[in-house]
Amino acid sequence: MNPGRALVIGGSLGGLFAGLFLRKMGWDTEIFERATETLASRGAGIVTYPELWNVIAAAGLPADDNKGVDVLGRITLDGAGRVVGSLDFPQTMTSWESLFALLRGAWPDQRYHLCRELVDIQEDRDAVTAIFADGTKATGDLLVAADGFRSAVRGCRFDNARPLYAGYVAWRALVPEADLPADAHAALFDHFAFCLPEDEQVIGYPVAGEGHDLRPGHRRYNLGWYRRARDPDQLFDLLTDNSGFTHSMSIPPTLIRPDIIAEMRDRAAYSLAPALAAVIRVARMPFFQPIYELEVPKMVKGRVALLGDAAYVARPHVGAGVVKAGLDAEALATALATQPDIDAALDQYHADRAPAGRRMVARGRYLGAYMQGGWTTDEEWRVANLRHTAEAVMAETGLLNF
Ligand SMILES: Cc1cc2nc3c(=O)[nH]c(=O)nc-3n(C[C@H](O)[C@H](O)[C@H](O)COP(=O)(O)OP(=O)(O)OC[C@H]3O[C@@H](n4cnc5c(N)ncnc54)[C@H](O)[C@@H]3O)c2cc1C
Repeated sequence: MNPGRALVIGGSLGGLFAGLFLRKMGWDTEIFERATETLASRGAGIVTYPELWNVIAAAGLPADDNKGVDVLGRITLDGAGRVVGSLDFPQTMTSWESLFALLRGAWPDQRYHLCRELVDIQEDRDAVTAIFADGTKATGDLLVAADGFRSAVRGCRFDNARPLYAGYVAWRALVPEADLPADAHAALFDHFAFCLPEDEQVIGYPVAGEGHDLRPGHRRYNLGWYRRARDPDQLFDLLTDNSGFTHSMSIPPTLIRPDIIAEMRDRAAYSLAPALAAVIRVARMPFFQPIYELEVPKMVKGRVALLGDAAYVARPHVGAGVVKAGLDAEALATALATQPDIDAALDQYHADRAPAGRRMVARGRYLGAYMQGGWTTDEEWRVANLRHTAEAVMAETGLLNF
């Protein structure tokens, strides 16, 4: 079909991929983001592999040799800090912030609108209109929902899918390299490290420093610690701030109660390898994210397409959310370029990408089963725990091809 006008809701990685691929196919595209200021300060590590760089190149970005921090391979540490497993597996680690800067730098400011929170959608045979909280509207031929796992677009137009809590949370810390004690630095900085306390998993790896700084001494260490919080009262408590307000689904890092953080730090000192516990000890603002998964029955409806986390969220052990968003965007743009009309293009997009989304969700559930608990039989427990070994986590975490 001929290129038309596209409205992309959400200006994070998925939205930027959508904008870049649609623009490449000649679509007149604008991105609308609800945040009031640039998103660049959200920090967390992203494991990379060739497919991610391939989709970034396909979006039209030039190849860059300074992709991130290289590690030699994977190691597993026990609670005493002994290396109990290793895997020769060189990889490059980057950060959300570095990827965002890369994609955002390729997108024109005049087509990226901050402070535009979508609150409603109107649609007829010929057009779709986004209505924003500030009363403004934008009309196009296609609306792409790249507004994340709590998607407002999905809420307006696809009423039958909600994120499902997995029963555990990810504590996250991002620590300047210079803050790490020398022994922790020596134990950790060259590898993708794992530690496997009972029912839990810790991962850690180096990433670029602020402003994609790759100079030794200026990088950062990224840690994720998956801890069970299956009981609804436990999650409720974690999400309750000092004022007694309980946040729904997630809590801003600055509002996590000090006693919750203190308990987490104490537990780290007791149960994690000393080098990983040191990362938690020096982290200035550790925060947690409850782990959710999401599957939609259909990625498209009328003139609306869901993309990235708005459509499918796999537990993070798969480590493929960003590349999935990029591949969704590429498939959508290709379908629009090759099909005769919007209906046929969106049907093709759903047929191309829904199986990959479902596969990733299933994979995340399989890898994370031992962390969630709640088994009804010994056999379920046994099968879930087959993935809770050094060999399994090192061979299976953060891989696109499975
Ligand atoms: C603990 C953890 C670790 C992870 N590790 C990895 C990893 O190693 N590798 C990897 O590939 N992925 C990883 N992921 C997943 C990855 O972060 C996501 O899959 C990816 O960021 C998806 O991006 P998105 O653009 O679809 O959604 P989001 O990044 O959630 O962006 C949605 C955007 O939409 C905006 N928005 C929301 N509502 C509205 C509205 N109403 N109007 C306008 N704008 C709106 C939001 O402000 C936001 O900017 C991890 C996730 C977690 C939780």
